[in-house]
Amino acid sequence: MRVRFPPSPTGYLHVGGARTALFNWLLARGRGGTFVLRIEDTDRERSSEAHTRAILDGLTWLGLEWDEGPYFQSDGVERHRAEALRLLASGRAYRDFTDPDALRAEAQARGIGHPSILAREKADALGADEARRRAEAGEPHALRLRVPEGRTEWDDLVHGAMSFSNADLDDLVILRSDGSPVYNLAVVSDDADQGITHVIRGDDHLSNTPKQILLYRALEVPVPVFGHVPMILGPDGKRLSKRHGATAVGDYAAQGILPEAMVNFLALLGWNPGDEREVMGRDELVAAFSMDRVQKKSAVFDTDKLLWLNGRVLAEADPAVLVPLVLDRLEAHGWAPARWGPGAPAPDGPGFRRLVGLLASRARTVDELALDAVPYLADDPERDPDAVAKHWAKDPQAAARRLEAALEAATAGPWDEESLETRLRACAEELGVGAGKLIHPLRLAVTGRSRSPGIFEVLVLLGPNRVRTRVERALAYLRAPDVSLS
Ligand code: GLU
Repeated sequence: MRVRFPPSPTGYLHVGGARTALFNWLLARGRGGTFVLRIEDTDRERSSEAHTRAILDGLTWLGLEWDEGPYFQSDGVERHRAEALRLLASGRAYRDFTDPDALRAEAQARGIGHPSILAREKADALGADEARRRAEAGEPHALRLRVPEGRTEWDDLVHGAMSFSNADLDDLVILRSDGSPVYNLAVVSDDADQGITHVIRGDDHLSNTPKQILLYRALEVPVPVFGHVPMILGPDGKRLSKRHGATAVGDYAAQGILPEAMVNFLALLGWNPGDEREVMGRDELVAAFSMDRVQKKSAVFDTDKLLWLNGRVLAEADPAVLVPLVLDRLEAHGWAPARWGPGAPAPDGPGFRRLVGLLASRARTVDELALDAVPYLADDPERDPDAVAKHWAKDPQAAARRLEAALEAATAGPWDEESLETRLRACAEELGVGAGKLIHPLRLAVTGRSRSPGIFEVLVLLGPNRVRTRVERALAYLRAPDVSLS
């Protein structure tokens, strides 16, 4: 098995392209096949090296390493041209000297369904010898494939039996009058040259396939197996586009999506393992993937599901692996270690790793995780006004009394989760309030927020000195005579 991914470098690696690449890669890895990368750069105006770079980077980030290539389609132009001339020599193609506009106008005037019918008529009337003479005299002309009668059929790995009437296919141009080979010929020539056995690509290429099969047959080379995977739609049922948010794989990387989650998510766009599994690692996907479970109907891009999967991957990830990613996102938000307050953990030490591990089980993206980490790094974390309204503002003096009692209880013994919990629960009981009435104002005092990992873990993480400083700042704030809390 030899499969390929042949992106055109006219844009970044799009989610749809990445999904096609992944299906090819999974198939190759599951069957001991070879995954070939080919850059289809024959559209010189729209192609760029920057886009090629971005596509390679995107594939590398996803972990879809290729076994061969990248080959560049533009390197094969001479071969593509030679194939067209071979078809001319074997009589399977003919020279067309007509002007495309005039041809179209005449076909319309005479009520002829397709201009190429007229092109063939004129070429036959001209005769091969006369055509050669005019060509040798330098008269510009295109080459067209002489499409035989009958039907073109194939057994698609996704769609099953496919059948097109050749009468509906025109005598396609294979070499333009400027000497440039057309796309369909270049693809067929490259796939044949690279020994591709299975062509797995998007549904949007379905109409190219009969033309390409005709070309394989005309060239007398083996026709590969085809499988056309469904389109990806946005939640509104329209084809996925920028309107729906990020479509470039690189944007997801920047938002803190992990490659494992992206791969898992892309695999489920148009495929399922046939059971209830959703969270699947790379090896599991390789083992489970098969083309017969690829669905015909379009797949819907569900961002919430991507975030959910990413949260699952984050929760399972080794914190040591996450640390550099979190540091990177922190820096992007202006929280490079130089800005961290006194008492903050060292970025390369066990305290920061513990913090990352603790936050990872609650965050959905690395970006979210980084922002969740800020209260533990900042000297004086900002207070969330909603949290203040909820936990302090109703009765600031009562909140202050509880905070004071909590601080006293917390600092009255050993600083570990279990003993902190025992002392703080006893303190709540003494005050005659539920534990929540103590914990919520305390959480707000030490993190500035109403949500955090378990308060006792948070206290251990911050350490007694920073907890004391923060609670004392909160008390000063709550007791300031001029403060308006509501
Ligand atoms: N270069 C084409 C594209 O980016 C893919 C061609 C193919 O898969 O046959 O859509």
